[in-house]
Amino acid sequence: MVLPFQLGTLCDLASWRGHSEEIIMRALCWHGKGDVRVDTVPDPKIQHPRDAVIKITACAICGSDLHLLDGYQPTMESGDILGHENMGEVIELGSEVTNLKIGDRVVVPFTISCGQCWFCQKGLFSCCDRTNPNAELAAQAMGQSPAGLFGFSHMLGGYSGGQAEYLRVPMADVGPIKIPDSVTDEQALFLSDIFPTGYMAAVNAQIEPGDTVAIWGCGPVGQFAIRSALMLGAGRVIAIDEVPERLAMAEAGGAETIDFSKTDVYDELMKRTENVVRTAASMRSDARRPDMVRPMPCSTRSRRQLSWPPTAFTSCARRSCAAARRARFPFRASMSAWATRSRLARL
Ligand SMILES: [Zn+2]
Ligand SMILES: [Zn+2]
Repeated sequence: MVLPFQLGTLCDLASWRGHSEEIIMRALCWHGKGDVRVDTVPDPKIQHPRDAVIKITACAICGSDLHLLDGYQPTMESGDILGHENMGEVIELGSEVTNLKIGDRVVVPFTISCGQCWFCQKGLFSCCDRTNPNAELAAQAMGQSPAGLFGFSHMLGGYSGGQAEYLRVPMADVGPIKIPDSVTDEQALFLSDIFPTGYMAAVNAQIEPGDTVAIWGCGPVGQFAIRSALMLGAGRVIAIDEVPERLAMAEAGGAETIDFSKTDVYDELMKRTENVVRTAASMRSDARRPDMVRPMPCSTRSRRQLSWPPTAFTSCARRSCAAARRARFPFRASMSAWATRSRLARL
């Protein structure tokens, strides 16, 4: 049976069936490769005392959504609601959610975390091992399962996403962050995923005051990595891409830039940095250019790697991601942003 939307780990099918006649809200639904539609679907309901329902006031389309659109993510089902970068206003609360109140504005992390398991207790919320009811499927595909995620396939929990009018937020006493009225939706929205992703890339690079940091890829994650690196004390950030508007935005954020389509990146980096640089690759895989994704060694000491276009870092990111999961590091940061502590000193 294919449900019009998936209810997730704390679902109550009897409850869902009871509400199934209430076909009210509009939501962006996946129906197959290259086929997403705005459908009319049942409103989400409180199904567990730790649930909240929010009225979506802003949501983002993530680069990762391209994997769904282009059919690269297994275990999607027709009718699944997309969207994992969400914020909104709390309109319903379960009885056990005491830290929020109706009317609060919240931004919702894309990972769903219980707050109680070993991982959550360690602050490794994206590794929560209680919120993905289909963890075995994820483990088959990825080695280990992360936490359940909003709007990102059934092997990652089958939770409905927030590219919709309303969203059920499980474990709402853990994830959602209250946003003060002085902060706009646009200022807060990227806390749901992409800002922490770029920030974590910079953190993983273990930047010390005055360091020079090279960042491959100036898409959204790269832009946040640039600004995070400077915020964490980098003296210089050298951003690498080929798209003019991305490079212009990187410069506006305080970075020097290298256009890899015009310049030998390795030689240019060595020239500018006297051979000492930390590296952070912040490029997501590009689902529209799978030909650019290919195996490569993880060592950043490779001259060839330094010269490759950013999309070539995808497989490296995946390997780092797998390593991070094996080591039980936070999945959120490593799933789309990859960083390594690497001194290229005196190669
Ligand atoms: Zn995202
Ligand atoms: Zn947990």
